[in-house]
Amino acid sequence: MTDIAKNLESIQSVLGPSVTLVAVSKTKPASDIREAYEAGHRDFGENKIQEMTEKSDELPSDIQWHMIGHVQTNKIKYMAPFVHLIHGCDREKVLKIADKEGRKNDRKLKVLLQVHIAEESTKFGFSAEELREFIESKRWEGYEFIEIKGLMGMATNTDDKAQVEREFKMLKALYDEVKSVLGDSIDTLSMGMSGDYAIAINAGSNMVRIGSAIFGARNYPA
Ligand SMILES: *Cc1c(COP(=O)(O)O)cnc(C)c1O
Repeated sequence: MTDIAKNLESIQSVLGPSVTLVAVSKTKPASDIREAYEAGHRDFGENKIQEMTEKSDELPSDIQWHMIGHVQTNKIKYMAPFVHLIHGCDREKVLKIADKEGRKNDRKLKVLLQVHIAEESTKFGFSAEELREFIESKRWEGYEFIEIKGLMGMATNTDDKAQVEREFKMLKALYDEVKSVLGDSIDTLSMGMSGDYAIAINAGSNMVRIGSAIFGARNYPA
């Protein structure tokens, strides 16, 4: 068994069957994805549209591609034909353009609403207030070609586990609120990365996005 296959197996055994593992392959070569694919894995996450499109062109078509990065609205058209789930819908403009591109492709695009739960001001997302306003407004009913599946969030990058836990619990509470309005179509709570997924699943996550714990540290070009 390769290292990648071993890492996948040990993480999956911690997660159990009810949590979806998105293997975050950003910056990693297609050969690494193929290794995971051959071990049976199908869900992969990328944060750059061009990289995701290039990889999807050369890899098997039954891979489910997750866009986990910040979404530029002018790039949505490139992923609309094939993306499985867009995690980073962090403002209404993204929903509006995703709806338009979904219509052009005659497919409903599955999306998560990204919520800003961290202390850092650099992380994108709806605030809790903006999210509640959007849900209560029922404007989401007007978007025929998107399917809102749930919420996504990133905790503060800190060693303070209690803080991370508080942030994840806050997102879980918002998820329950949204589900009480939109109903059973809401079934995905994407939270947890290599460093904090254990805390996330304890707080109620059912989808984790894990990169370095599967593929090793990323080498960004200097
Ligand atoms: C890179 C990234 C991850 C994975 O990070 P790791 O710490 O390598 O597990 C998860 N979510 C998002 C949004 C990312 O950009």
